[in-house]
Amino acid sequence: MIRFVGKSAHKGIAAGPAAVLREEDLRPERSKNACQDRKAPPDRKTDPEEEIRKLEQAVRTAKEQLGSLCQKAALEVGKNGAAIFEAHQMILEDENYLNAICERIRTEQTCAQDAVAAAGEHFSKMFLGMDDDYMEARAADIKDISERLLRCLDEREEKGFVLTEPSVIVAEDLTPAETLLMDRKKILAFVTVCGFVNSHTAILARMMNIPALVAVPMDLSKLRTGMKAIVDGINGEVIFEPDEVLIGKAEQRIREEKEKAALLMEMKGRENRTLSGRKIEVYANIGGGGEVEQALENDAGGIGLMRSEFLYLGRETPPAEEEQFLAYRTVLEKMGDKRVIIRTLDMGADKGADYLGTVREENPALGCRGIRICFRRPDLFKTQLRALLRASVYGNLSILYPMITATAEVMRIYQILEEVKEELRKEQAAYTVPEQGIMIETPAAVMVSDELARKADFFSVGTNDLTQYTLALDRRNGNLADFYDPGHKAVLRMIKMVTENAHRCGKRVGICGEMAADTALTEEFLKMGIDELSVSPSLILPLRKRIREIS
Ligand code: PEP
Ligand code: MG
Repeated sequence: MIRFVGKSAHKGIAAGPAAVLREEDLRPERSKNACQDRKAPPDRKTDPEEEIRKLEQAVRTAKEQLGSLCQKAALEVGKNGAAIFEAHQMILEDENYLNAICERIRTEQTCAQDAVAAAGEHFSKMFLGMDDDYMEARAADIKDISERLLRCLDEREEKGFVLTEPSVIVAEDLTPAETLLMDRKKILAFVTVCGFVNSHTAILARMMNIPALVAVPMDLSKLRTGMKAIVDGINGEVIFEPDEVLIGKAEQRIREEKEKAALLMEMKGRENRTLSGRKIEVYANIGGGGEVEQALENDAGGIGLMRSEFLYLGRETPPAEEEQFLAYRTVLEKMGDKRVIIRTLDMGADKGADYLGTVREENPALGCRGIRICFRRPDLFKTQLRALLRASVYGNLSILYPMITATAEVMRIYQILEEVKEELRKEQAAYTVPEQGIMIETPAAVMVSDELARKADFFSVGTNDLTQYTLALDRRNGNLADFYDPGHKAVLRMIKMVTENAHRCGKRVGICGEMAADTALTEEFLKMGIDELSVSPSLILPLRKRIREIS
């Protein structure tokens, strides 16, 4: 068994025979004499004008080849794939690049091939030296283009590698063209020694939805075509000659991935509507903002809970207003006109930070957490509210307040909000006031939900804490797992009561705790009249499937 760890360029699992492609399989060797043949005898110099004419002809041929590749890419991977080859065509129009080649032909009186090779090396070294992932990937583009020009000058054909069976492609490096010219149906995964996650080849692999690893420190001389290989694009590893147990596990994961992908295809774009026509919103729960893409990929109708405290964790000082503003604005812009519910700082209990200056508590879950911290530290709270109100201009924002137990707390929040608005007004800062929602996650909030419903625009039931506080059961205590009943009647009755109270005032109710994803309870939630369910991005489509089965 040989195991290597590299960088994941595209997620996914694959298993199958390796096709180890060596340099000579991919690139016909450059004739050593090609340039020599063209050079004039030593007593005469090469004719620069003649070499430049050859270069111009090679550029035309290369552009034509790239045009065909563009069309192939557009058909097979879409217009973003075609753009890769258009970008290569543009390099062939770049004056800096072409002038550098011509300059060498004229001043060094060298043949076109040597000038192309030298200019290609010069520019790719320059980009590599920039210590920037993006520029490093562009170095590969220049190398690729120069190699294409050399092939055209030598009149060597571009050979696409022919795969005889579905294989894990293992190579030192691959150009986008080499990648595209292979039979896509026979590619299980790409694994390369060189390459960057931002290289065009890696981008192409992502568009083809094929697992890919780059920067894998393999010694190709020790690998053979036909060796069994498992590629784990999630953990960034490849295993050659795995044992039967590993193969079995990989096959199981591949089956699961396939099922997920099939569900995704089947459920994407569909409505969250029951057989009898009742529609319910299905939103995504996210952390600090990093999972927005995942939410969109899984067809989230909006963000039902962004746990903003993730922006505050693992650091020495709290995030400044500008940093928060940008983080919220980014999420809002990415979600377009879809609803984004951002919960204000819910620190305390299991999420702490030294800068909060809180004291050690006997019972942190019953201590200074959520809105209580915000009242103790109005400076932090106001900074966050300022950032949220300013970001609200850029999308469809709602604010959600955690750990509410009484109407007086809501009134206190509104008072602080008024102060923040006044500040922003004075500063003539652009802002809008979003909808104001309350987390229903304490039994107290449930019992006064009739009053709260008159004060808030919407409710979001936090069943994780509501279960903890109702069942007197610490959610982090693994020893109590056997007492934990995720669908306890007490909690369900509370959710029903909250929903009725909210609806009486014409307010919407969602559930954003883990219970929302429990498909055994979906029917019950629908009967209660719940308006939204917010779950982890990967659980959106299974939940949609369940909703669509209910009559
Ligand atoms: C909840 O309590 O159900 C909830 C969604 O909030 P958190 O899990 O972040 O406490
Ligand atoms: Mg909670």
